[in-house]
Amino acid sequence: MEEKEIQPAPSSLKAQVWHQFGILPKPGHTEPDMTHTVCRHCKTRIKHFGNTTNAQAHITRHHPEMRDTERTQPPAADQRTLQSFSKLSASSKRAKTITGSIANCL
Ligand SMILES: [Zn+2]
Repeated sequence: MEEKEIQPAPSSLKAQVWHQFGILPKPGHTEPDMTHTVCRHCKTRIKHFGNTTNAQAHITRHHPEMRDTERTQPPAADQRTLQSFSKLSASSKRAKTITGSIANCL
């Protein structure tokens, strides 16, 4: 099975677990076959019943380390807050340095 044939799971599937899975086109078609999903790690096709049960069971059984990785990753919102915070403290430090050198000039 070719890696390039695997399409990303549609954005309608919002669960974290779908980052680990893709969708294959129907044989001879370009439209996705939503009856199955494909594991990106081992390329196994699993039946898709419109929920994450099978996908999560597959990750738990075959790729438990991937499940742990997902869990320890901070949510995107937290990451953004952290980044803007460190940027802010860096600029305030620079602001102090500039203030200090102006004071020295006087
Ligand atoms: Zn797998």
